[in-house]
Amino acid sequence: MGSQQFRCKACDGEGLLMDDESWRYTCTVCRGDGFVSKYENQDEVAIGHVDENKRYLD
Ligand SMILES: [Zn+2]
Repeated sequence: MGSQQFRCKACDGEGLLMDDESWRYTCTVCRGDGFVSKYENQDEVAIGHVDENKRYLD
């Protein structure tokens, strides 16, 4: 882990997310790492990317 990485806010460091039907899938924000770079963590572009998958909203 580099010093510029932070725990992923989307999956809370789990590296996995659960959708409405309890399907677990790899977090698209941190790509399963559970950590994101400073850039990914603070930039809304990351949220937009998740939104494209229609998994995060709702
Ligand atoms: Zn994550």
